[in-house]
Amino acid sequence: MNNGIFSKNCITDFPAVTYPTQASMITGTYTGDYKKEFCHGVPLMDWLDRDKIPPSLRSYAAKDMQIYKINEDLGNNCRTILEMVGEGNTTSITQFINRGTKYFYPERRTKLALFYLLLYYSQNTKKTMVRVNSLVVQKLLETFKNPKKFFNNKEPPIASLLWFVSSDILLHLFGSDSWIYKLNLLHIDKVIGLLINELDKLGYLSDTVIAITSDHGNYKADRLGNLQSFLNRNKLIQYHPRKKKRGNFDLAKYDGVGFFYFKGTNNSDKKYQWSPPTLMDLESYGPNKINLLNQLFKIDASQLMFYRGDNNTSKEGIIYLKKRCKENNQILTSIIEYQGTGFDYKTRYIPNDEENDMFNYFNDTTACQLLDNKFHTTQEWLMATYHLDYPMLPDLIPRHFKNPRSADIILSNDGSIVYNIHHGKQTGKNISNHDLGLKRCMNVPLIIGGSLEIPSKELTYCKITDIVPTLLKLLGKNPHKSVVGSSLV
Ligand SMILES: [Zn+2]
Repeated sequence: MNNGIFSKNCITDFPAVTYPTQASMITGTYTGDYKKEFCHGVPLMDWLDRDKIPPSLRSYAAKDMQIYKINEDLGNNCRTILEMVGEGNTTSITQFINRGTKYFYPERRTKLALFYLLLYYSQNTKKTMVRVNSLVVQKLLETFKNPKKFFNNKEPPIASLLWFVSSDILLHLFGSDSWIYKLNLLHIDKVIGLLINELDKLGYLSDTVIAITSDHGNYKADRLGNLQSFLNRNKLIQYHPRKKKRGNFDLAKYDGVGFFYFKGTNNSDKKYQWSPPTLMDLESYGPNKINLLNQLFKIDASQLMFYRGDNNTSKEGIIYLKKRCKENNQILTSIIEYQGTGFDYKTRYIPNDEENDMFNYFNDTTACQLLDNKFHTTQEWLMATYHLDYPMLPDLIPRHFKNPRSADIILSNDGSIVYNIHHGKQTGKNISNHDLGLKRCMNVPLIIGGSLEIPSKELTYCKITDIVPTLLKLLGKNPHKSVVGSSLV
């Protein structure tokens, strides 16, 4: 860290959920209208695919075994860093967002299944995590020591992706304040030390750059929630493509942030099509004709609601924001507007007054300067909000809603309750999570070290999409035109 670049305020993506944030990290771009603009197509960990009739349910969770589809889901308008480095050998160890890799561990789907089973159903957590952390580094070192075994030639890999998945698993199981979680971080540090020593011995360290970061931070809720009586009361039935009673909505994921998909009434002649709903559809939904835009606030601990305008395009549009005041149940409103694509993309956040300011930017001397009714760039939002809760959200939320795979309503709660729902099913009892737009979920550390060619400096702030262009610059390569971030060197 002291011989390279580091930052304590690297802002990740929203929602701060593993796979969408990692997609942004590895491609150097964010999500968006992935068929029309340069960006990646992965909106969430769990989402509804409306392109299929009837729609299908995507889930990258371990047990669903769909994770291998994520490389296709990225779409054709972005590149992974492994694709951007061009010719040369590349390695990906337990990182599934790895399009373009020449070697991948685990090699086959069956091996992947075994790997997951080992992680999730291990009898001895501590021993398993130690094995998995060591394996990540050992596998990479093998590709350096014996390239011929993994590639068509004798060259060691020029770019490698490694994922230490153990810290996420232990976070959910035991919380970030637990002894075993901290011990595991120390162990990851130890195996990185081992990697550095071995690379040094092999003579590769002086021309190697190692970037270390996290996809998200964490929080701990007070308790586990249950939604069933709310859903029953409002006749909201979870959609399932293979059930006879197909259901009328998909709660794709709800831990501390809920991602709701609904069926629009404009479905031309295709009975099983789920076109996106209009605002009118959302205001009078299901057999009870409920106004979802108010009614969903009755869910325990709900606080913020985001949804898109009717006439949004990839080039311009409006996002509605609502906030429920805890004290008097009053509903406050504001909007985000966006315009442009790629480098011309800008947004403005219009809360009108302090009371309607969902993100409490008015209280900050820097952030309040961007509440001037003008459109602002990604870098301006980063600079003005990196130190606050909801960092960069006026920039990041419209990007999510531009993606045709996005949810129709996002409902964020105050962090006191988690629901652990994936496509309608409650899947666990853990209360430690990381999806909220809070600073502690979205500010992550970044360290770029290794070769002495890297300048030594601390950056006050940066963003997760800056990592790819920085590494490419140090390699002497150009980023793909989709890359939003810029080089930190
Ligand atoms: Zn997680």
